[in-house]
Amino acid sequence: MDALLTDIQAIVDPSGLIRGEAVGQRINDWLSGAPCRATAIVRPTDTQQLAAVMRCCHAAGQPVVTQGGMTGLVHGGQAGRDELVISLERMTAVETLDPLDGTLTVQAGAPLEIVQQAAASQGWHFPLDLGARGSCTIGGNISTNAGGNRVIRHGMMRQHVLGLEAVLADGTVISSLNRMLKNNAGYDVKQLFIGSEGTLGIVTRAVLRLQRPTTSENTALLAVPGFEALTSILNGLRQRLGANLTACEVMWQSHYRLLTEELGRHTPPLSADSPYYLLVEAQGIDQQHDEQLFSAALKDFFEAGWVSDAVMAHSGAQRQALWAIREDIEGLIQALRPLFAFDVSLPIGSMPGYVETLECELAAVRPGSRLVVFGHIGDGNLHLSINAGSDDADTRQAVERLVYGPLAALGGSVSAEHGIGLEKRDYLALCRSPEEIALMHTLKQALDPKGLLNRHKVLPFIACSRQEE
Ligand code: FAD
Repeated sequence: MDALLTDIQAIVDPSGLIRGEAVGQRINDWLSGAPCRATAIVRPTDTQQLAAVMRCCHAAGQPVVTQGGMTGLVHGGQAGRDELVISLERMTAVETLDPLDGTLTVQAGAPLEIVQQAAASQGWHFPLDLGARGSCTIGGNISTNAGGNRVIRHGMMRQHVLGLEAVLADGTVISSLNRMLKNNAGYDVKQLFIGSEGTLGIVTRAVLRLQRPTTSENTALLAVPGFEALTSILNGLRQRLGANLTACEVMWQSHYRLLTEELGRHTPPLSADSPYYLLVEAQGIDQQHDEQLFSAALKDFFEAGWVSDAVMAHSGAQRQALWAIREDIEGLIQALRPLFAFDVSLPIGSMPGYVETLECELAAVRPGSRLVVFGHIGDGNLHLSINAGSDDADTRQAVERLVYGPLAALGGSVSAEHGIGLEKRDYLALCRSPEEIALMHTLKQALDPKGLLNRHKVLPFIACSRQEE
């Protein structure tokens, strides 16, 4: 290892290599905050340095783990003692913005919020948005195919990437920095690196597709008396607001009550006795007209009995205050520690039955458990936060079985947006067929035959059966 680190230091300079005690001052995982255990952290400044580092690692058979902003929630960036971390923290440049094509070329270590600001400063808009915007990076967003708050209108990260550059396990640079909206020349190789969680290559740069910013914004929080009313509102909003509907976020009473009345972290804009709350947002280009449409829809929903109470935001501060209740993950962690956090998708109509059954089964298997639910309802995505009294391995497994077990029959997924990482690898087969998993393994074998990139993440089963062969 020492000889390898000497070679790597010659490539990245001493400032690009962190060793010894300083490694443990970094985190290994966002949720637990546990210290990093890797042998060293390598911080290249550009693609060429990274490619040279990977050539050395490949020759030495050295496994590496790529880290972006470390906000991933499935332990995908977690490194073992015998691994090297590749950190993209010195590759943060916003390189060019093409105002005719509406594209932004950026290094993969750039934080999402910096990219949003860079686009806005030149009259453009980068629509991906999520609570971790200040820390998560474009490379992490690409590798996890991040979703977030506006998927209902703009889609997931995949929809925003026109091209990218990646370094393979052997140091080969795949430059697929396409800037065209249309390009059907052969395989679209960038797709291999989007959502594959760093197991097929390290993303170094990307060409992102920008949008023109909207100029109207209407946001409201609705108290909703039942799930049927909730789906009626969702359909009504889709029909009446069309593409202007940018967010439709649900909070079960468990989430809303906990963060407002119970913890007092937010002044409750509405009383906390409704079973569901919907945070809805529409963006367009004509404030007066869009506000009329938005208000008329809410009024009709109210008259239909689908909404029992509502509050509309009349300023940026009020809008932020409403979003803060929905986005207060830190509040959830504080209140529910030790916390198990799940991110599942399932057909919208199956949600109330699924949550109800889960609640009953948790109470039976782990009495005193607490389940808190919010989600991106329009995307069929629920986030479940569970305190089951302990976070030991047995409890975790018992809870995971209850959460993941019913999803296959419902046609759902164990990961709507956070990915598989280490945390869900044993459950991948619940929502992917054996043929799909075999194909994933074929791709892994082709691109990383020594298994150096993000070892043991995403695809455990086939890796094990190979070893047995
Ligand atoms: P990291 O955590 O550093 O890494 C995540 C994975 O990507 C790891 O497997 C890592 O090895 C790999 N990786 C990182 N960079 C690269 C690269 N350059 N090349 C190859 N592989 C790489 N996610 C959502 O989808 N929607 C949400 O609404 C959402 N909200 C969140 C809110 C909070 C408060 C938090 C803490 C997280 C949230 N997340 C959400 C999860 C997380 O923010 C996303 O998964 C994000 O995309 C991770 O980016 P990162 O830079 O932090 O990646």
